[in-house]
Amino acid sequence: MQTTFTLAQLADPQVAESEKILRACVHCGFCTATCPTYVLLGDERDSPRGRIYLIKEMLEHDAPASPEVVTHVDRCLSCLSCMTTCPSGVHYMHLVDHARTVIEETHQRPLSERLLRDLLAWILPHNTRLRLAMGLGILGKPFAALAAVVGLRRIAALIELAPWRLPRRSVAESPRVFAAEGPRRGRVALMTGCVTPVVGPSILDAAVRVLCRHGIDVVVPEGQGCCGGLVHHMGRAEEAHAAAWRNIAAWSAIVPPVDAILVTASGCGTTLKDYGFMLRNDPAHAPAAARISALAMDICEYLAREDLLPELAPNGKVVAYHAACSLQHGQRITREPKALLSRLGFTVREVPEGHLCCGSAGTYNILQPDIAKRLRARKVGNIEKIEPDVIAAGNVGCIRQIATGTAIPIVHTIELIDWATGGRVPPALQGALLQGALLQGAFIPVSA
Ligand code: SF4
Ligand code: SF4
Repeated sequence: MQTTFTLAQLADPQVAESEKILRACVHCGFCTATCPTYVLLGDERDSPRGRIYLIKEMLEHDAPASPEVVTHVDRCLSCLSCMTTCPSGVHYMHLVDHARTVIEETHQRPLSERLLRDLLAWILPHNTRLRLAMGLGILGKPFAALAAVVGLRRIAALIELAPWRLPRRSVAESPRVFAAEGPRRGRVALMTGCVTPVVGPSILDAAVRVLCRHGIDVVVPEGQGCCGGLVHHMGRAEEAHAAAWRNIAAWSAIVPPVDAILVTASGCGTTLKDYGFMLRNDPAHAPAAARISALAMDICEYLAREDLLPELAPNGKVVAYHAACSLQHGQRITREPKALLSRLGFTVREVPEGHLCCGSAGTYNILQPDIAKRLRARKVGNIEKIEPDVIAAGNVGCIRQIATGTAIPIVHTIELIDWATGGRVPPALQGALLQGALLQGAFIPVSA
């Protein structure tokens, strides 16, 4: 794609980077077919190619973001399906991240929108505030439908995402070291993040059990917190950088150093792997950021690389594997989670249209509830077609989003791995077990 940036504009490293990305696009339009918003809305401006044009116009003219740009960039899920499809290697993620920052700096949103965004940015990255908000969400559950009827659709979406009761806290919520059982085979840091300890603490508990059981020391360091991804995707670059600096300091201070920094929420994993790029122009943090990005791994990526798990006989339990966008498109991890589950004897079924987002996408299901609900309905319909006993996913956001749309239990992949290798039954499966649906089929080593 031809661009017309001036030399003065290109002196800004952000603009120079975006110009490189824009020039890589050859307008072929292959990406439109796999873009969830284009598939749903059929408007070129809601496709990757259309958004790339809008962003190009905005950046070239040094203009404040127009309402048109804001509408169509806001509707983008940052699911990165377009990056998987693009034959020209267009790095859409970095381009849209830049566009969101420009929008945040140059466009004044309506007061109600600003208040909601400020509130989300104030609550979500902090465990204590989020726990309090979830408590209020639980109290508000009976009023969710009423909120939707009176036009408070975003508030209704927020309430709907709250669980019916707050789960007990994770053993990994506070800083500590969990010692490996048996001969030590490795040492990792576990990134706990902001949403997972509050909404899915059983995921972190399962991760600690699996790792320790297979000879890995697990360090939960002092000072780590939200990865910054949620605010980063809202265009709040400074807040995202502050979160990255804090985490980099926490992980760099671990003594002795760890072999990897493991992440159970793939949205956070994608952000960690991008710290090196995010802070590339910050001389004080760039080298450490690149080091941290190189150490960051999804938990299934690590388990597969280290070949830690046993091989178990088929157990008859059918798993629909939901590939979170941040895992399949953001990190290009597609094979490992399914291979691990198959190795443990689960029958893994692919979800039709697996490349399409479930509508979770960070704060998207709150900020764009209508599109998010349509995507959820499509995802749930595709999952139900393959009649699984259980759904597995590698991202807490997808788990909450899909759970609100189906009666089929949904768990994190690591919870199934934990259960199959001698750990606990995932809390979301306990009801299904009582009903007998998942009772059949024990976990038996192949050699037994
Ligand atoms: S990130 Fe997803 S929603 Fe956004 S343009 Fe790409 S495919 Fe479409
Ligand atoms: S597939 Fe890639 S090169 Fe083709 S229009 Fe989309 S972003 Fe541009």
